[in-house]
Amino acid sequence: MSALMPTYAPSDLAFERGLGAYVFTAEGKRYLDFCAGIAVSILGHSHPHLVAALKDQAEKIWHTSNLYRIPGQEKMAERLVAGSFADKVFFSNSGAEAIEAAIKVARKYHHDNGNPEKYRVVCCTNAFHGRTLATIAAGGQEKHIEGFGPVTDGFDHVAYGNLNEMRAAIGPETAAILVEPVQGEGGIYGAGPEYLKGLRAIADEFGILLMFDEVQCGMGRTGKLFAYEWADIKPDVVATAKGIGGGFPLGACLTNEKAAVLKVGNHGTTYGGNPLAMAVGNAVLDVILADGFLDGVAKIGDALGDALEGLVKKYPDVFSEVRGQGLMRGIKCKDGIDNRAFKTKLEEGGLLVAPAGDNVIRFLPPLIIEQSHIDEAMAIIEKAAGEEASK
Ligand SMILES: *Cc1c(COP(=O)(O)O)cnc(C)c1O
Repeated sequence: MSALMPTYAPSDLAFERGLGAYVFTAEGKRYLDFCAGIAVSILGHSHPHLVAALKDQAEKIWHTSNLYRIPGQEKMAERLVAGSFADKVFFSNSGAEAIEAAIKVARKYHHDNGNPEKYRVVCCTNAFHGRTLATIAAGGQEKHIEGFGPVTDGFDHVAYGNLNEMRAAIGPETAAILVEPVQGEGGIYGAGPEYLKGLRAIADEFGILLMFDEVQCGMGRTGKLFAYEWADIKPDVVATAKGIGGGFPLGACLTNEKAAVLKVGNHGTTYGGNPLAMAVGNAVLDVILADGFLDGVAKIGDALGDALEGLVKKYPDVFSEVRGQGLMRGIKCKDGIDNRAFKTKLEEGGLLVAPAGDNVIRFLPPLIIEQSHIDEAMAIIEKAAGEEASK
């Protein structure tokens, strides 16, 4: 019997090392990693620039707490600000903590403006914002909330993609809108640029904050640093994490000047933005902010999308549609095809993917993949789909 709390149901695989887009078991079996630790290892495994940054920092200093200046934080914050809508950055260890910071920003913003009655956040159904008490309330999914009541107050839910419902849900107590530009866990579903533009207009009309959860879709995954950029608008707050540390635990809450309401003593964390995390985070930015890198992601992302479209055409009895953008893609399985069982089948074929809601298989490869990796993945999927279709 394992001493671990059984909160996960992992596959039997354990990996000993990784290189680029591949991971290896202790027995040396190789897998093509189109899961990337759930959108985390954005530069693949053992990227030499990240390894060097971590080793170099490990020999200097690991942790000092936020009682002292952390130069790596100042540098990384400046770079995120220079590359986005934001003016200020708070570093956390995880996505849920970045979202928690965003929720606190929303409440504090209206408190400071003399409207403490405005504290509610309108979120979407089928959302995922993390597993803390506030973020499961924000996500609003029964399967995450059940057994942990009373549900943290202050969250309303409307259908994703529906601007009329969103508008109707704004009341005198509403502080902010919180939406994933592309829903991840919910099934790789993006409502498109017009929806995000509409959300901006609604937030402006009611004087509330527009907050995006870019924990999964941010940090280059869609081919832009942040997914909201495709809509040509600017949010007030963005929470990001996953890819930002390339595998080292790190998250960030970004705000514009207007929403920069967290001051000395208002918020904090022991580990958040420690020197090790900042060394790796800055190294990740060195790569993804380099000239042409994100354009390359958009391009290879289109190639992955095209390849998946081809699969749907070829196996209409197995797959029904392709979703997503850039290197954040999903294919929806037909009724009767179980996405989790299919994921296991792909695993047996040597390809790692992640399941998502709505019977979707998620493809979240590292941003460094090339056409040859896509070809290899497609061959594995075709074999599995062919077996499924001939059943
Ligand atoms: C993963 C995820 C989170 C939670 O991040 P953790 O690091 O697991 O706390 C929040 N929002 C979205 C969209 C995510 O994909």
